[in-house]
Amino acid sequence: MSITHSRRVRLKVMQRITLVVLVLIASGLAACNRATGASAPTIAATAAPIQTADGGAVTAADPATLPVAPTDTLPPPSPSLPTDAPSPSAAPSPTVMPDPTDAADLSLNYTDVTLYPVPLIYAGDKVTFQLLPHVPESINIGDVTAIIAVNGVQVAGGPLDRRNWNGQAEGVYEWAWDTTGLSGEYRIEVVLDPGDAIQAGDEDPLNNTVAITALVTVPTGQAARDAAAVWETTETNCCFIHVVSNTAAARDLQALAPVLEKAVQQAADRLTIQPSQKLHVYFIDRVVGQGGFAGTDMVVSYVDRRYAGGGLYELLVHESAHILDQQFAPQRISFLAEGLAVWVSGGHYKAEDLKQRSATLLTLEQYVPLAQLINDFYPVQHEIGYLEAAGLVTYLIDRGGWNTFKSFYTEVSTDDGPTLADAVDVNLQRYYGATLAQIENEWHGSLASTTVDPAVVEDLRTTIRYYNIARRYQELYDPTAHYLSAWLPHPTQVREFGNPADLTRRPETEMNVTLELMLTAADVALRAGDFARANVILDSVGHILDNGGTIIDPMATSYLNIVRAAAEYDYELHMVELQGNTARAMATQAPNIRLTSLVMELRGTSWVILSH
Ligand SMILES: [Zn+2]
Repeated sequence: MSITHSRRVRLKVMQRITLVVLVLIASGLAACNRATGASAPTIAATAAPIQTADGGAVTAADPATLPVAPTDTLPPPSPSLPTDAPSPSAAPSPTVMPDPTDAADLSLNYTDVTLYPVPLIYAGDKVTFQLLPHVPESINIGDVTAIIAVNGVQVAGGPLDRRNWNGQAEGVYEWAWDTTGLSGEYRIEVVLDPGDAIQAGDEDPLNNTVAITALVTVPTGQAARDAAAVWETTETNCCFIHVVSNTAAARDLQALAPVLEKAVQQAADRLTIQPSQKLHVYFIDRVVGQGGFAGTDMVVSYVDRRYAGGGLYELLVHESAHILDQQFAPQRISFLAEGLAVWVSGGHYKAEDLKQRSATLLTLEQYVPLAQLINDFYPVQHEIGYLEAAGLVTYLIDRGGWNTFKSFYTEVSTDDGPTLADAVDVNLQRYYGATLAQIENEWHGSLASTTVDPAVVEDLRTTIRYYNIARRYQELYDPTAHYLSAWLPHPTQVREFGNPADLTRRPETEMNVTLELMLTAADVALRAGDFARANVILDSVGHILDNGGTIIDPMATSYLNIVRAAAEYDYELHMVELQGNTARAMATQAPNIRLTSLVMELRGTSWVILSH
């Protein structure tokens, strides 16, 4: 997807979100100090720009294969400056909105700025700024500096960090604004190239500045309890397990620890290597991407409403593999690393016959030529790319044994050829005596003779559809969870310098809960092999996403009304099994995090709770 296109999508979605934000802010004003910033476009953290395939940077897309970037670009806030200095003269002209859809030169729009934690900033949060400006190809990212000021006082500055593989420039300024003791609206001003050092490619320096308004809220009730959450660490045989207090993972820690132990052991056994040290594992109360990422440490989603699918055990093995394989193959490339991690797990989201499932890619005509996939791995549809990589790894291990594969895997690096496919090709010749094209041919021959169970075809087709729809849901309703736009900070640094909310807070509107429950129900049906039911639920979710959140069909209406009926008693639902006029649900009732089962029934047009 081109940047221009993705920006346009983002902008369109932004218009909707901005409206929501304005409403939120309007309703919040009564309780807050009125601040300046009158004509500036208003954006709270809720208004995270939607980035369709342009925010991933080097840590995108289950960036397990990549070391987590250090945060050395973050200048410390200037403590000597007053925090309440007004900036009447420094104000740009926010009434003229630069439009990066049209701007070809270096430019920044308010949709390019995200404040974390999302979706709300509570007093006491240390705010991170993520910038995704438009930087022409001709300009070196490192030459572009940005400064960020709050009410006229600079809190962060320095060069952008990187250009991701889609060409999108990104700068992240972590934990730069301490909101302790603050409340109300604050004017955030971001200026690119403040000294106007860049001339070529920055023909219009006026579109380098944006000013937005951020709302800092004093949390009350459950929000205050969530904001006061702290990290809790437990040491086990394999790992240091970090959880945030009063989350699902904290509640289930006793059960989780042995599952993790077993997962790490499986990764160690299949990779024939013992961990050189205990792993740091963070269970976070929020979905990010497909559920986890790993660099030197592992971050895994553990939430009650698992809208990105189940398969926790496979996920833990997968991320463990990404950490352990670096002990013998620190230079490994993404395509092989993801393929190996799926092979080590014995399946992507569950136990899967990888040979049969890869053969299914051919049946569904979803196969991507290997050279193309190897060279540009992460942008390829996630389930297809990972499965195909795992299929090839499985084939190579079956063909030449583990030791040959391990040597090959360790040897392939970006330095071995002009492209990654060339690097794989040259090492296949060395270790397998065949070129990439020959291996691909042989492998196809083997797949062609594999009998494919029709249920596997339906399973894969529905799985791909499920995750495509779940990602569309993320783009529209939980954008900073989307693997391409998520800020994925190093968890140890979050623990030391950031807020637990960086990895836990998330949008929880009625629409979020309803759509997440439906996605969860689709995943349950898919896992039970009820593909027809899974697809009916996905049809319904797809219609809602296509129609700007309008809920029309009876099934979706039932889910929404169930969510509302439960909310009247302060229940947050995590799973709903809908059968005609009855529903069985799992719920929590804050501040209690214990899961409770509810039985609900449709009476007339309202759902009522029969037992709880
Ligand atoms: Zn991975």
